[in-house]
Amino acid sequence: MQRCNFHTHTKYSDGTDTPQEMIEAAIGFGFKALGFSDHSYTHQREDYPMSIEGQKQYRREIRALAEQYKDQIRVYCGIEQDAESSLPGREYDYILSSVHELIYHGEFYPLDSSEALHRNAVETLFGGNYLEFAKRYFYLLTEHVIRQKTDIVGHFDLITKYSLAPEDHPEYADAALEAIREIVKHCNLFELNTGAIARGLRTVPYPAPFMVDEIKRLGGRFIVNSDCHYRAKLTCWFDEAEKFLAAHGFVKDEHADLNDVVKDIEIWR
Ligand SMILES: [Zn+2]
Ligand SMILES: [Zn+2]
Repeated sequence: MQRCNFHTHTKYSDGTDTPQEMIEAAIGFGFKALGFSDHSYTHQREDYPMSIEGQKQYRREIRALAEQYKDQIRVYCGIEQDAESSLPGREYDYILSSVHELIYHGEFYPLDSSEALHRNAVETLFGGNYLEFAKRYFYLLTEHVIRQKTDIVGHFDLITKYSLAPEDHPEYADAALEAIREIVKHCNLFELNTGAIARGLRTVPYPAPFMVDEIKRLGGRFIVNSDCHYRAKLTCWFDEAEKFLAAHGFVKDEHADLNDVVKDIEIWR
């Protein structure tokens, strides 16, 4: 089983545990490395993203814990960077880029907070035309990844969370595949995100199998992440993920580099 996870949340954003509780759990699972990726500050919303001051405290605490636990586990301070957040500098060890909402005329429309709000975004902004909604989402994610010089592409087809997307429609597939072909030129590391499985909403990870195949064909790579909001879920679906990736032709590199800072971790290529 993969012994690392680079998509994890704590009480600093919408996770339930403290960073220290997460680290202790990761050590219990035999992890070699753990990356924190709490939600970046965005001025539009005050529900779960970190505040500006919260981000500073988050970095201070993670850095202190990384030092405290350095003989047992490597701890990294990353960020789940929202499309609406300003560009981070070098204060984070890695950036995981995600799109969680659409913004129109200053109003924000969450995509993954609840099924009702997800439906509201499709209805209000696109008159219920899900294909147009999906095209907009994939376009925004592509633009976001390029602009933020990201290290990991977050939950690529998050809009399938409530199983409302027309996943069999050729235009839907085209929009997704076109986004993958553009993104992979800028960032070739995607996450196989098991977060919706951990929540009991889906039985398959993001992205969909046909997207995984295209990423493979283009030389892209995967890291398995559980988008962990609760420490018991740190390794959710990890065993199945390994079989899934192997079945799609990927092999695990046990000593791969995520970037210049995060080195010697498990990545599938
Ligand atoms: Zn996310
Ligand atoms: Zn997340």
